[in-house]
Amino acid sequence: MNVMKVLLVILSNIEKSIMDELIAHLSNYGLKVDILFDSRKYLPISAFNWDRLQFDAEKALNFLKNLYDFNYDSIVFIVDADGYVNSYNFVFGLTIDKVAIVFTSRLREEFYNRKPNPTLFMERLIKEVTHEIGHTLGLSHCNNMGCVMNFSNTIEDVDKKEAYFCEKCKYKVNEKLAKYRPQR
Ligand SMILES: [Zn+2]
Ligand SMILES: [Zn+2]
Repeated sequence: MNVMKVLLVILSNIEKSIMDELIAHLSNYGLKVDILFDSRKYLPISAFNWDRLQFDAEKALNFLKNLYDFNYDSIVFIVDADGYVNSYNFVFGLTIDKVAIVFTSRLREEFYNRKPNPTLFMERLIKEVTHEIGHTLGLSHCNNMGCVMNFSNTIEDVDKKEAYFCEKCKYKVNEKLAKYRPQR
């Protein structure tokens, strides 16, 4: 069967139980998800901005996408770092065409000098990865507050939204996915 194939490349220390939850969540939408743990666990230093002490998301993504030319419809890199794009203080993630990056530093309570909370981290990761996969499917930001495609400016915004596509976005996702499924 023809299904949309997603590759998650992990350059981060994420427990397997969290990855299992993430895969289960994405499978709900009929996505076929593969995982690759990249032992390098680093981003190119050329993508690091020494004034901001953050990674340039665009540079990092352009570097990473050239390392992988597997046959996937969408690739998401999950990196334990903090990233930005010009004109933003930071971003949780970025998508360019079919390739996306999710930065996990700010999804962790430790970043805000609070006690680690693995469950909260897992929920935030699932939301942000789902959001970026939505972008790789061509979806743009959604005005529905609870929708996973709602734009998150702060970690509070991430916590407020759901991990799911709203009805309107779900319709668009299904429309996109239909082209991966066999026609009757
Ligand atoms: Zn977005
Ligand atoms: Zn929506």
